[in-house]
Amino acid sequence: MDLDPSIEPLAETREFFDVAAFIESVRPAWMDKSECFFHPEVDFFSSRGDSLREAREICKVCPVEDECGEYALANPKVRGVWAGMSERDRRAILKQRRQGTV
Ligand code: SF4
Repeated sequence: MDLDPSIEPLAETREFFDVAAFIESVRPAWMDKSECFFHPEVDFFSSRGDSLREAREICKVCPVEDECGEYALANPKVRGVWAGMSERDRRAILKQRRQGTV
């Protein structure tokens, strides 16, 4: 059987999708300065009070706390402590913003 030379092989027509490059391209630049990156011993995703307090203490000295907080408020599906705010804290702030009380 002769192949039609005008038809490109499938491997040449599909674009390679680099997942790691895509994630890096959408990851905000401020995350490179995250203080939590230097504290792997602290659980920012725990629901225990002790861990929340530890995480919040780290957020207080983080140089990108403002950016982190706005990111978390804009992305309500993120979990854990962001900018010292728990999920409950963020829900309350979003509610206040919707009501125009902050
Ligand atoms: S504010 Fe807290 S959660 Fe956000 S990047 Fe800084 S240390 Fe991490």
